[in-house]
Amino acid sequence: MDNCLFCKIAAGEIPSTKVYEDEKWFAFKDIQPCAPVHILVIPKTHVKNILDINTKSNEIFSDFFLKIKEIAENANLGKNGFRLVMNTGEKAGQTVFHFHAHIIGGKDMGWPPFPETVKH
Ligand code: 5GP
Ligand code: ZN
Repeated sequence: MDNCLFCKIAAGEIPSTKVYEDEKWFAFKDIQPCAPVHILVIPKTHVKNILDINTKSNEIFSDFFLKIKEIAENANLGKNGFRLVMNTGEKAGQTVFHFHAHIIGGKDMGWPPFPETVKH
């Protein structure tokens, strides 16, 4: 996809701090980390977000959770765990429209993550 920041990062055209790469996946450090460990995991194929996934592109994601687990364990998050975030759409906070999963950890993350609590 032309002019996509994360396509360019996956292709090595824009520099990043790479933590993992194979034929389908690319993972790199977030430029503005919100925790001691903040890794972005992206498919090399351009998919906008979860709402852009269809039966065909779903094949890309067949090993998604195994990759997340492998990358997180390599970042020493296997013992204490981590948070996996996929902002989907502008209103959810997505700013780069190439699918990415945030692996966030390395500290006590707390819950809920939102500034305001919803009253029921
Ligand atoms: P989103 O808000 O779309 O879920 O997440 C986009 C993430 O990409 C943000 O956390 C932001 O810091 C990160 N980001 C944006 N541009 C760059 C960049 O050029 N390099 C890296 N490594 N991260 C980026
Ligand atoms: Zn892209």
